[in-house]
Amino acid sequence: MKDLTTIKISNVHNKYVMPTYSPTIVLEKGVGLKVWDKDGKEYLDFTSGIAVTNLGHSHPNITKSILKQSDKIIHSSNLFFNELQPFLAETLVECSELDNGKCFFCNSGAEANEGMIKLARMWGHNQNRYEIITMKKSFHGRTLATLTATGQDKVKKGFDPLPKGFFHAEYNNIKSVEELINSRTVAIMMESIQGEGGIIPADQDFFHQVRLLCDREGILLLCDEVQSGIGRTGKWFGFQHYGIKPDIISTAKGLGNGFPIGAFIANSALSNIFQPGAHGTTFGGTPLACSVSLAVIKTIKDDCLLQNAEEKGSLLMSKLNSVVSSHKEWIDDVRGLGLMIGLVLKTPVKDLQRKLQEKGLLCIATAGNILRLVPPIIITNEEIDRAINYIQEACDELDESMLECLKDSK
Ligand SMILES: *Cc1c(COP(=O)(O)O)cnc(C)c1O
Repeated sequence: MKDLTTIKISNVHNKYVMPTYSPTIVLEKGVGLKVWDKDGKEYLDFTSGIAVTNLGHSHPNITKSILKQSDKIIHSSNLFFNELQPFLAETLVECSELDNGKCFFCNSGAEANEGMIKLARMWGHNQNRYEIITMKKSFHGRTLATLTATGQDKVKKGFDPLPKGFFHAEYNNIKSVEELINSRTVAIMMESIQGEGGIIPADQDFFHQVRLLCDREGILLLCDEVQSGIGRTGKWFGFQHYGIKPDIISTAKGLGNGFPIGAFIANSALSNIFQPGAHGTTFGGTPLACSVSLAVIKTIKDDCLLQNAEEKGSLLMSKLNSVVSSHKEWIDDVRGLGLMIGLVLKTPVKDLQRKLQEKGLLCIATAGNILRLVPPIIITNEEIDRAINYIQEACDELDESMLECLKDSK
């Protein structure tokens, strides 16, 4: 039974907040992977606020950097240098391995992608190139340009007329990309691992072919690393598993561990296209946001968290595989990279997600039938074992109803 406070909060929420989401619990407090709701129930957080709080909740380094910097200066605008932004840019360029690259800072993933698209278009302007090929099932954000770039119809409904110049190819099918190339194409834009689309990693060969295609045609490769970046997959960016380099990278989600910040990083050929007046932002790259981001990156380095994400990702994946082996009739697959993992069901995922939440494990339902597991990259073996126990129990308990559901759908 919910207590009065939770009921009151949800009533006021429903009265005054637009119903774009349908939350059920009020999260009040978090430490590491643990979060507590208003009724005092404890959960293990495998959502990380949608792949954002990669260092977990209330990380002391993050709290300290917010307290210290907010006591000094929070915001000054980009009319002035600030003493942190250049060093965050330097750090991100190093992490991205884009030689002599430069950064532009903004506040969210959609904004980073919007800026990345604008930069590509301005680069192609003199050659009259402006078309961008993106992938089906991709997700790039909710602004008009980024929802148009997104390869899913559900985000576009009701918003036309949409900006022109976006075309969608089959992910992991190089022929389908080639078919869309023409003299107006300026770029190919893709996620190294599709997140919202259902945790689908790019095939090695496909990603290489896309890079070769871009080189051959003299066009740009834009990589949306908003979800897969900042250590989530065991590398700074997902594309680094593939041994290729994009021309522009966007990042956001994990970059501020919950403090809003995004960025795009362009290689040396593109780094001076945007001149004064071409692009801008009031809030992007504030001293406060940059101090938090620098703390995030330093913590990942100091605590060897890339390695932890990789190791714990394989451990979690192998334990999930053994759970799946006893429910093969209705669980199809486990896939992902590092700590970006999807459990692919043959049935809708809602019941499993709800059951896990009852037990005390928070996960994200994606693409209708996929359970998305994106725990903080500080995760320990004990926390993996606890989550696996919940998942094992939930799967056992749901076995009959899932098989029933499978029969009905046939
Ligand atoms: C979440 C996400 C975005 C959008 O980021 P917002 O911060 O919600 O605007 C863009 N691309 C990918 C791959 C994402 O996962």
